[in-house]
Amino acid sequence: MPGAAGDDEAVETETALETARLQLDRAAAHLDIDPNVVERLHHPRRVQEVTVPIERDDGSVEAFTGYRAQHDSVRGPYKGGLRYHPEVTHDECVGLAMWMTWKCAVMDLPFGGAKGGVAVDPKSLSDDEKERLTRRFAQEIRGVIGPMQDIPAPDMGTDPQTMAWLMDAYSMQEGETTPGVVTGKPPVIGGSKGREEAPGRSVAIITRAVCEYYDRPLSETTIAIQGYGSVGANAARLLDEWGATIVAVSDVNGAMYAPDGIDTASVPSHDEEPEAVTEYADTVISNDELLELDVDVLVPAALGNVITADNATDISADIVVEGANGPTTTTGDAILEERGIRVIPDILANAGGVTVSYFEWLQDINRRAWSLERVNEELETEMLDAWDAVTDAHETYDVSWRDAAYIVALKRVAAAHEARGLWP
Ligand code: GLU
Repeated sequence: MPGAAGDDEAVETETALETARLQLDRAAAHLDIDPNVVERLHHPRRVQEVTVPIERDDGSVEAFTGYRAQHDSVRGPYKGGLRYHPEVTHDECVGLAMWMTWKCAVMDLPFGGAKGGVAVDPKSLSDDEKERLTRRFAQEIRGVIGPMQDIPAPDMGTDPQTMAWLMDAYSMQEGETTPGVVTGKPPVIGGSKGREEAPGRSVAIITRAVCEYYDRPLSETTIAIQGYGSVGANAARLLDEWGATIVAVSDVNGAMYAPDGIDTASVPSHDEEPEAVTEYADTVISNDELLELDVDVLVPAALGNVITADNATDISADIVVEGANGPTTTTGDAILEERGIRVIPDILANAGGVTVSYFEWLQDINRRAWSLERVNEELETEMLDAWDAVTDAHETYDVSWRDAAYIVALKRVAAAHEARGLWP
């Protein structure tokens, strides 16, 4: 179950780690890089596994399992989200940490890759229980995180408030306010303006860029978006504003379908009114039907492993832009490629989140906030630079968009490993 880059399953199961390793091998096959470096990159540097006991509101104690997987830090401190989800596992965190290494490298950010989380259903916890869980988890992983070491951020089931508790717990123990230990915090304590909207904004910027590349005016483009959380809703609203026709959006209960276009501003996002999309719909279809709609662009922006061997032959979109992390399995991807469907990978499309996390980290270190205009302008520049680098690899190597993004990332990571060498 990989899943959304800021927030929120299917039949064929391939672990994130299996997918990530296969993708690494594919990219490496195109490049003349030291096989020893590739071998090293198959493995995380370290995975911290901890027990997180908390007192429930009824006075009983329950113990959960938490992880922090750190994949590679050759280009800078480890970076990546923390998720609270019942299906969080050791291998999932490692696979997602590998994706963060490539995501940061394709964006040319001075960070490596990490991911972590707690195997818990956050909906089963009260706010007080969530706070206790977060503070205790922060304490358990305190030795391996830090502003120059490893910087967590929100992911599925966590949000700015979670980051605020984490930052507070860390700061209290360190004896100094340390905003740079996490990103995605509320702006009042050093969070960046524009951070929450950033993954959706990057999905929209990349969707616009790919439509331009294939000579499709946005005004003539129909889009279906799975998920209406921070990624899906923000992408939908921007693309709607830029002239595209959003024909379907969904949440866990199903999808709203309107062939003439949805007024996305009038549909509450998951943050505004959780799981309410279908209540505002005249026509409701299932999430599976949404994925198979005959649209120009499909944006899976909710869960991992939703495009699989089971449904890839039924996808009718011309272009898939991955808003979630890992929405397409390896087999699903191969079927889409064979069918000529272009897939713009997660590590590029949703990288706005970690890019604005980088801006936030810079603001924290410098103790100086940026305006929203500056954040959005610099995000756009970074996204278009990454798009240009990936387009160049796509054309030079004559490979899929995913392989092109991996080539860009792997080249940068491998060059850094070769320059630094193996110690001792
Ligand atoms: N969880 C987000 C992602 O998967 C953001 C990570 C970050 O900002 O560090 O990209």
